[in-house]
Amino acid sequence: APRTHWLFGDQLGPHFVDPRHGGPDHDAPVVMIEARSVLRRRRFHRAKAHLVLSAMRHRAAALGDRVRYVRAETYAEGLAEVLGRGKDRVTVCHPTSRAALGLVTSMERVDVLPAKGFLVPRAEFARWADGHGGALRMETFYRWVRTRHELLMDGAEPAGGRWNLDHDNREPPPRDTATLGAAEVWRPAEDEIDAEVRHDLDRWERDGDVSFVGRDGPRGFPADRREALSALRRFVGHRLADFGRYEDAMLAADPVMSHSLLSSALNLGLLDPSECVERAERAWRDGQAPLNSVEGFVRQIAGWREYVWHLYWRFGEEYRSRNALGHHEPLPDWFLELDADAVTANCLSTVLAQVRDTGWTHHIPRLMVLGSRALQDGWDPAAVTDWFHRCFVDGYDWVMLPNVVGMSQYADGGMMTTKPYTSGGAYINKMSDLCAPCAYRPTDRVGERACPYSTGYWAFLHRHREELAGNHRMARAVQGLDRLKDLPELLEQAASRSGGQAP
Ligand code: FAD
Repeated sequence: APRTHWLFGDQLGPHFVDPRHGGPDHDAPVVMIEARSVLRRRRFHRAKAHLVLSAMRHRAAALGDRVRYVRAETYAEGLAEVLGRGKDRVTVCHPTSRAALGLVTSMERVDVLPAKGFLVPRAEFARWADGHGGALRMETFYRWVRTRHELLMDGAEPAGGRWNLDHDNREPPPRDTATLGAAEVWRPAEDEIDAEVRHDLDRWERDGDVSFVGRDGPRGFPADRREALSALRRFVGHRLADFGRYEDAMLAADPVMSHSLLSSALNLGLLDPSECVERAERAWRDGQAPLNSVEGFVRQIAGWREYVWHLYWRFGEEYRSRNALGHHEPLPDWFLELDADAVTANCLSTVLAQVRDTGWTHHIPRLMVLGSRALQDGWDPAAVTDWFHRCFVDGYDWVMLPNVVGMSQYADGGMMTTKPYTSGGAYINKMSDLCAPCAYRPTDRVGERACPYSTGYWAFLHRHREELAGNHRMARAVQGLDRLKDLPELLEQAASRSGGQAP
């Protein structure tokens, strides 16, 4: 008899029950466990809790009689309920967090199968990384993935002759418009499963059993395979062409711009990365989308997403508690509570409201508005990681750790990036329409209208002058400190907003 196959809540696409490539047994019965302890442990964004439960229940509905859907306090209890006292074994695809991997490998009757949902198997990455000594740079990795998987390649050469079209993809937003006017993004219509999820979440919250941050609203992201494919089709067919050019730009009234909104579907396992990049490549070959957009999108998925996944495992458990810059400030209440109305700085208030209302923003607000605020103000990186994990619909342990500890907070001291990502208000002003209506001025470092990002940027450089002076990508910025005649006033200004006051 086939072994029962256990699906975690982020293993919801058809590839997770496909017996080929090290998958489960043919016609394996399936078990899914909805563990309440997961929601009780952490205060998640309401939209995220909704999306994950809705997606799990949609999957169970699609699997019909083949699945046993168990509601239990913990995974172990749920599994015990399914298996009883017999000797039957269970299979599970390699889970996506260290905690879950530890759990399944410690269970006697569970056989762990290879990971699915990524392009590069773990053993292959390990061989590549070992061959590259300490220098695991994203760009080198990405080119290797392109070559190995023949993605956007013409023979041994990158399609179009260049590997990297990033410099075509960093344009400021057009100045004369509030929105990009991209083709409309795909949004789902809720169904009776969503109604049931909403009812359950309301009840658990009322009972004081769980609590959430953020606002409830109509589900905004795919919860089943059909929806995920619709979202992918709409993106590739109508929105991909403009993806590249304004990839790093922000517009207050257009939070999505030309981004794909596919991260949550990918991370729930509803889409496989290979189908996303293959469809994007086909759009380019068919003349439907320009190379800069297609390369930019392929780079995000076959480059960044894969790279982050493998670094998560490579860097080990201690990575979680890295704090190279010695940052220990607690997260202020207005940030924890997503209280956008308490914030004066227009960029931060706008982005925080997006998170509060939807559980999503694109990568530049995450990095250069939210993450940068945390970095400049010296907030504890583990608490910042936990905040991102709970508040974003696409947040999972594997993807948060490298992105927040490494990329955003530089708490790993440069294992992942070559420099800290933070800036003064000038960058935000150049890349968005957020500064014009702001009470602060990006050019002011001191005084009533000093921009907290401009003040914070220099205060950050000053605080970490010694660590950063040796970094050749930061040396010039650090030298800039010597030219600031108002540095003492600036530092005073930065210090005056202590005690968790909202900027
Ligand atoms: P698009 O801009 O359309 O990009 C396409 C796809 O590329 C995304 O769907 C995603 O799957 C992938 N991708 C791009 N960059 C990354 C990356 N750095 N890591 C992983 N995948 C990437 N992404 C998450 O999926 N989950 C997270 O928890 C997450 N946390 C982040 C935290 C910080 C501080 C930063 C700077 C980035 C984080 N990202 C995370 C990466 C990125 O911001 C999101 O993947 C992206 O904004 C999702 O929107 P989209 O699907 O429209 O992306």
